[in-house]
Amino acid sequence: MTMLERTLSIIKPNAVERGLVGKILARFEDNHLKIVATKMVWLSRPKAMEFYAVHKERPFFKSLVDFMVSGPVVVSVLEGEDAVKRHRDVMGATDPGKAAPGTIRKDFGESIEKNASHGSDSLDNAKVEISHFFSGLELQDYARR
Ligand code: GDP
Repeated sequence: MTMLERTLSIIKPNAVERGLVGKILARFEDNHLKIVATKMVWLSRPKAMEFYAVHKERPFFKSLVDFMVSGPVVVSVLEGEDAVKRHRDVMGATDPGKAAPGTIRKDFGESIEKNASHGSDSLDNAKVEISHFFSGLELQDYARR
């Protein structure tokens, strides 16, 4: 039994800068991940630190935050059956060097840090991450369909 889920995508600053937004969004749509909300935002440092708080003790935390505030990002809510896992599969492994052929990170990632995209890693985290960026007003309601 599959479940209709929603997950958060962030197209990271390196991919936005390189003009890859359209190509990455197309990968989602080609893989049955419907874009139900999307916008470009430039993260503040406090916001980026809050978003990645789970990593705050890691040695790469400061570098990751510096990278995530280095330019605008495109945040989207993706919806589909098993969207959380499906999106992670379409993105590929965290390290582009280890990601499978045909994945976003393999094709567009530049390093383990500048890996082009973020995707929620669980349904619970997806709900929290979506609420970081989108209000209820910006999200289409299941009930209205
Ligand atoms: P994800 O869920 O696949 O994004 O991976 P993680 O939650 O483990 O890491 C979050 C983000 O931190 C990754 O997407 C990378 O941008 C960055 N990152 C992870 N591991 C490393 C690392 O070893 N070095 C650096 N510089 N960045 C890392």
